[in-house]
Amino acid sequence: MNFNEIPELAIEGAENFGIHEVKCKGGCEHAWVRPKLVWMLQKARDHAGVPFNITSWHRCVYHNKHIGGAKKSSHLEGWAVDILLTKNKLYNYLILQSLITAGFPRIKVRPDHIHVDIDPEKRWWILIP
Ligand SMILES: [Zn+2]
Ligand SMILES: [Zn+2]
Repeated sequence: MNFNEIPELAIEGAENFGIHEVKCKGGCEHAWVRPKLVWMLQKARDHAGVPFNITSWHRCVYHNKHIGGAKKSSHLEGWAVDILLTKNKLYNYLILQSLITAGFPRIKVRPDHIHVDIDPEKRWWILIP
């Protein structure tokens, strides 16, 4: 499979997200994202009306290990993203609300970001510390 072909398809119809963003942040240029994930993010982005700063899309095994990601992290399979939380509490509220409205089944609120994923092999939940 040519991983680099997938993001182009995925980005179609998702004007707020670009192909340059979806690469692994470990510097390996590996890009892998699920089209459904990008379309759901665009739906949430449209609903929120405020910018989403996505700090992590796909991660390769090496990068995931390097940053201490979970062994079975949904980032490995392209099912997950992390959205940076801002200093603007209203923005954060609008982002969280929009993710629920868009139908994300798994949402984890962290001190500095919100992890969302649509991993079909995992149970639905919302974790708020
Ligand atoms: Zn990598
Ligand atoms: Zn994450």
